Amino acid sequence: MEKLEQLYEGKAKRVFATNDPELLIVDYKDDATAFNGLKKGTISGKGVINNQMSNRLMQKLEKAGIPTHFVRELSERETLVKRVAIVPLEVIVRNIAAGSFSKRYGMEEGVVFEQPTIEFSYKNDALGDPLLNTLHARALGLATDTEIEQIKCYAFRINEILKAFWAECGVTLVDFKLEFGRLPDGTIVLADEISPDTCRLWDTKTHEKLDKDRFRRDLGGVEDAYAEIMKRLVEHDAT
Ligand code: UDP
Repeated sequence: MEKLEQLYEGKAKRVFATNDPELLIVDYKDDATAFNGLKKGTISGKGVINNQMSNRLMQKLEKAGIPTHFVRELSERETLVKRVAIVPLEVIVRNIAAGSFSKRYGMEEGVVFEQPTIEFSYKNDALGDPLLNTLHARALGLATDTEIEQIKCYAFRINEILKAFWAECGVTLVDFKLEFGRLPDGTIVLADEISPDTCRLWDTKTHEKLDKDRFRRDLGGVEDAYAEIMKRLVEHDAT
């Protein structure tokens, strides 16, 4: 597979064309941002962990029947993925109140919901990724009703699969963000990444944060937390 010109550079990844028009190469960086790019930094080794973790989780999801963009891991930081048109929605699934949910609705962090909940925001940096409902998404022409139903259904199934998996690693899946894309034939697949950058992951016993909140909130031990969560995954898969 030939790595051709860079098509796009995001906050945490670069995307390259390949000699196959249907495939792209994603290259993970150590750069970290938070608060819509206001806070910037580096988390040493993050690119390797996020690449490898996202790939392992996507392969588990594929096995469980969720279609994803994953094709093949090429190196520590590089992965071959299917080219998709990203649906400009950030899909957030929550099991426990935290972050913007706690702030917006005045519910203390750590309250466990009776049932998982979901929200969407419009993936638009210039507007600060505003929260929207599915009827707004339809009015804006971001996705069709059928696509939104499919995305919601996948998102809740992904939550059940990942929650159960992380529980086996002694980790509580608090919340996470997903992005979906359309293949050329219109099929919806899971895209982007699933990593400590995009999930809240708490040690089940100690409630220690093992995710990007350590960076966002200046809690220290950021690199150690990423290494610890990756270790839990690798050890789980080895047994
Ligand atoms: N999230 C993300 N990208 C974003 C916003 C949120 O990956 O642009 C993830 C975040 O890591 C967390 C979940 O989505 O696991 C819910 O985030 P929240 O809405 O609470 O926002 P935050 O408190 O991070 O601003």
